[in-house]
Amino acid sequence: MIRHLVSELRAALRAAAGHSFSVLTLTFGATLILAGFTGSEPVEARRAVMPIEIPLAIETSTATETDVDYDAAGQQAVAAEQETWRDVAVRRGDNLSLIFSRARLAGEDLQAILDADVKARSLRQLFPGQTLSIRTDADGRLTGLRYAKSPLETSVFTRNDAGFERADEVRSPSVHRVFRHATLKSSLFEAGKEAGLSNRIVLELANIFGGVIDFALDPRAGDSFSVLYEEQHLDGEKIGEGAIIAAEYINKGKSFSAFRHQDAHGEIGYFSADGVSMRKVFMLAPLDFTRVSSNFNMRRLHPIMKVVRPHRGVDYSASTGTPVYASGDGKVTASGYSRSNGNYVYVQHGNRFQTRYLHLHKRSVRVGQRVKQGQTIGTVGATGLATGPHLHYEFLVDGVHKNPGTILDSLPRAQELQGRELAAFRSSIAGAATQLAAYTNAWEMAVVSGDE
Ligand SMILES: [Zn+2]
Repeated sequence: MIRHLVSELRAALRAAAGHSFSVLTLTFGATLILAGFTGSEPVEARRAVMPIEIPLAIETSTATETDVDYDAAGQQAVAAEQETWRDVAVRRGDNLSLIFSRARLAGEDLQAILDADVKARSLRQLFPGQTLSIRTDADGRLTGLRYAKSPLETSVFTRNDAGFERADEVRSPSVHRVFRHATLKSSLFEAGKEAGLSNRIVLELANIFGGVIDFALDPRAGDSFSVLYEEQHLDGEKIGEGAIIAAEYINKGKSFSAFRHQDAHGEIGYFSADGVSMRKVFMLAPLDFTRVSSNFNMRRLHPIMKVVRPHRGVDYSASTGTPVYASGDGKVTASGYSRSNGNYVYVQHGNRFQTRYLHLHKRSVRVGQRVKQGQTIGTVGATGLATGPHLHYEFLVDGVHKNPGTILDSLPRAQELQGRELAAFRSSIAGAATQLAAYTNAWEMAVVSGDE
């Protein structure tokens, strides 16, 4: 199946190499659409980032999109046939009263509408750029009002004998799985951007792999990643992004995969294909890595920051004020100031492990306080003997300094799925694993076969 997909994709790409095409249909259980090359962009097959959209039959929403019939909401459908709707834009500083007077609608109808809205109060908060639709009869009397709070939620007010009745129309977006693949040239975020990923998805990806990859120190040019995630569409337009379903990150030739899994208690996490949680006892980069000075040096292709033996720690250059996180759950055993360390915090994790954070600008924890992994314990600074703002991070095992980047294997094991849950996990990720592998292969084959 995969080979078939790959060869077909390859042939199609050859045929189209150097030219623009927008839609390519392949057989892969269902139809999938490749929408990568557009007419305006120069096609460079070797480097082209080729998003593969998969609007196949994996719509996960239970409800389907429905075309809303404006007249269906009310009982006066027959009478209303003669009447037309018109749109009124919500302006800056607008409220319903101003809109009603602009549209020359009666004040008593305003009150009647507000009475019908008294529970939901949806009309109390109108925002510029929104649109109200109003319907009037031949005498200019209001017979209906529609207010789209969002593309998914619309309130409909219809005149009845007593005044107006309110009904809500809720639409469900269709959910599509989208595949993206990127290769790092300068940075993780640049690669993500080129592949058409939002920063939110890139951050989520970094969060998922944050226990096995130090995104401040580890990424290199040539690293690549694939991600399969959900997008919400309405009327053919993207209106939102959902969760990452599966992802792979290849760092310095080593591959890491993660799959989304909801356990028996309803808790959602990411696990390797073997069922080992991606959430490790320690996260590798104990700070907001997006604010580390340079993810990697483009010319030398290795980090500016590196382990410097004499001081037994890792230095992360980052601007003053960058949040510093506890790398694991633990208890604060020191929070103070010294001439060499500046502001420092020590966190004890169980009996064997201790982490230390030096040269902080500010400390935000007290001695004795329990902290959670990822909790902010202070901010990056240049206090004590520091030449510039950076976090000096130390990791001690049984009182001995270790390089936090290389001790992953000797740390306490992460949660592992067992028995029936492991079996359920394996079968639940099979589809996503196949898709991820097939699309990644297809993408790589396409790159290899691109002659232009
Ligand atoms: Zn240092």
